[in-house]
Amino acid sequence: MSRNASKLAFSRAQRVMPGGVNSPARAFGGVGGEPIFIQQAEGPWLVDIDGNRYLDYIGSWGPMILGHGHPAVVAALEAAIRRGTSYGAPTMQETELAELIIEAVPSVEKVRLVNSGTEATMSAIRLARGYTGRPIVIKFAGNYHGHVDSLLVAAGSSAATLGVPNSPGVTEGTARDTLVLPYNDPTALEDAFARVGDCVAGVIFEPVVGNMGCVVPSEAFRFALRDLTARYGALLICDEVMTGFRVAYRGAQSLWGMKPDLTTLGKVIGGGLPVGAYGGAAKIMDYILPAGKVFQAGTLSGNPLATSAGIATLKVLRDSDAYSQLERSSSRLAEGLVEAAQAAEIPHTLARVGSMMTLFFNPEPVTDWVTAARSDTPRYAKYFWGMLDRGVYLPCSQFEALFVSTAHSDEQIESTIAAAAETFGSL
Ligand SMILES: *Cc1c(COP(=O)(O)O)cnc(C)c1O
Repeated sequence: MSRNASKLAFSRAQRVMPGGVNSPARAFGGVGGEPIFIQQAEGPWLVDIDGNRYLDYIGSWGPMILGHGHPAVVAALEAAIRRGTSYGAPTMQETELAELIIEAVPSVEKVRLVNSGTEATMSAIRLARGYTGRPIVIKFAGNYHGHVDSLLVAAGSSAATLGVPNSPGVTEGTARDTLVLPYNDPTALEDAFARVGDCVAGVIFEPVVGNMGCVVPSEAFRFALRDLTARYGALLICDEVMTGFRVAYRGAQSLWGMKPDLTTLGKVIGGGLPVGAYGGAAKIMDYILPAGKVFQAGTLSGNPLATSAGIATLKVLRDSDAYSQLERSSSRLAEGLVEAAQAAEIPHTLARVGSMMTLFFNPEPVTDWVTAARSDTPRYAKYFWGMLDRGVYLPCSQFEALFVSTAHSDEQIESTIAAAAETFGSL
């Protein structure tokens, strides 16, 4: 498989962009080597500029739950583009997308649309501080909430891959108002609230972590999150940018029976275009300008192309059997990967919720950042390249989840398992 065109493209890109990319997760830093440049995508396939085809298991890191170029999304975009690409004035599509979100997620009564997941979490944090009048935000090690200054402390995703738990440029003053605790540790959370509970504006968490690989919260941890925030008058902020409309139509909070105060969304709700959202109880959301005094704005927020793609995506998800299909194909993929790893006697543990999963090269259960970090990352790198050579595009880091789309056929899932069996045999 030749990747000469990508090699040339990367050296050209490196001359004009830092590291040759516009987001570090794309740079293959977690597995070594150079990224491949994509020419186009169709259904479950990515095609690179050398003409190689790959089964895509990153789906733009989550958004492409229907695969690439779904006819309903393409039609919605084609119609929208003829009506103009941005007005800076209200549209019906914004209300329609908001209504779809509110209908799906019962804890959300009002919602504000923004342009990315980062903007959603940044704004939710500002709102939590504005609403409570308190400074401290609690987050968990290995959880990633976008590149918000105050949340770039012990962050997962490419921050974990690159080993930059604290980014230069984030001041001590900013970091001081963020308290980082271990995930899945109710006692640590209780101790923190006992110490500084009266100063805590909110607790932000991933309801299924995707950004240190897939990690599932325990029942005790979930209970402590809701119980302690309610008791101390802090807001519980459920970051569903990755999980919303992914693990279930109603989000991970519906799987856990949780009712957070604020929810952040992104990825799937934009259907592959830049969208984020944050929402919650009306009495909290009405603190946002112009209803209230907490400032938040956006020139392109609620953009007509992005909302059209989002509406089309959510309607297909709502009106089809997408989630039962995703559950079937994802559970088969998980089962096949585990069987293949067992056959090759490779120590592993697999975590999965719906169509997001991670095969950790780690014999122990992974429950937090400390256990995730014990994974055999050099072995993951070999696995990644072995799969790429066999036409399967996996996340380029042990600490990212893979995503299955509705475009992946049973046959493609089986060929992926066969490729993994072959690759494991060579590790
Ligand atoms: C991707 C992600 C974000 C950031 O979203 P961007 O659109 O990349 O800014 C925030 N939180 C979680 C849980 C994410 O997975």
